Amino acid sequence: MPLQSSILYDNTMADQRQRHPSACHNISNPTNFVTRLTHLPDSVNFPCWFQVILKEEFFVTLSPPVDFQRIRGVLFDMDGVVYVGSNLLPGVQEMFDYLESTGRKWLCVTNNASRTPAQFVEKLTSMGVRARPEQILGSAEATAGWLAEQIEEQGWPRGKVIIVGQDGLRAALKQHHFELTTTPAEATYAIAGINFELTYEELAGVALAIRHGARFIGTNSDPSYPSERGLLPGAGSILALLATATGVEPTVIGKPNAGMYDQAIRRIGLQPHEVMMVGDRYDTDISGALSFGLSTTGVLTGVSTRHDFESAVQPPHIIATDLPELRQLFEQHDSR
Ligand SMILES: [Mg+2]
Repeated sequence: MPLQSSILYDNTMADQRQRHPSACHNISNPTNFVTRLTHLPDSVNFPCWFQVILKEEFFVTLSPPVDFQRIRGVLFDMDGVVYVGSNLLPGVQEMFDYLESTGRKWLCVTNNASRTPAQFVEKLTSMGVRARPEQILGSAEATAGWLAEQIEEQGWPRGKVIIVGQDGLRAALKQHHFELTTTPAEATYAIAGINFELTYEELAGVALAIRHGARFIGTNSDPSYPSERGLLPGAGSILALLATATGVEPTVIGKPNAGMYDQAIRRIGLQPHEVMMVGDRYDTDISGALSFGLSTTGVLTGVSTRHDFESAVQPPHIIATDLPELRQLFEQHDSR
């Protein structure tokens, strides 16, 4: 973190007290505070509390350190946090075991809508990681759950659904008792997500349904999808194609949209301030979680770099190289 000894502290404090009196309320000794900041390990970052002026030109946004003991549940993105493609990343089982040993809950939250929770569990099991289907929330499930809620609570019609998607989306919709159709004129809802076996006919069907008045919903808007071959077109690219074809913008549920975090924290039965989101991608994992009031950790095992995280307007609370480093931070704070 670019903190330097030349922080102009007095002016900053006076200025910030005026602008954010409550945020600065508990800093009684600015000198000690600076000393603490400058002695932090490189991996720890303190965004979004108040701004510190560096050399009169640079602004660094800071936030209070995460209160680890208050964290009762952790949400993990999967691609780039738990694994990359078919390669397991280090320290996953140890992290899950540690959280469970301290009575914390955990949930994998992925925008990938192609697999069912059982298929994700199978993938994790093949990598030697233990998980139960209810510990995985994909955007397919979140989207189906969200749509069912709109029908039950907002009085939306319970109509048929036409999709661009795979097993994950199909199974999630069936679980919520939706009837699928391939006839555009029959569809009340048109839901699009990733399909690795996408055909023109599927796109045409969903586009016609939207033109016919079906409500256009997207599982997630990730423009790309990380693979061993590199970044491939993601669900967001499919949504962009359909939006271009129809002139209609979709309602999107997956991260960084609130729908996904809302479903996730309800699944583990906690409040936002008790939950930490761990992700590799600033624009999906971290930005949405910050807006939802969660603590956040950016890990460097996937898409975003340390620079990406640090240079964000509202950086994550913590930047950790990988899960073993994050587990160490939990252990250190828990033993205090
Ligand atoms: Mg990811």
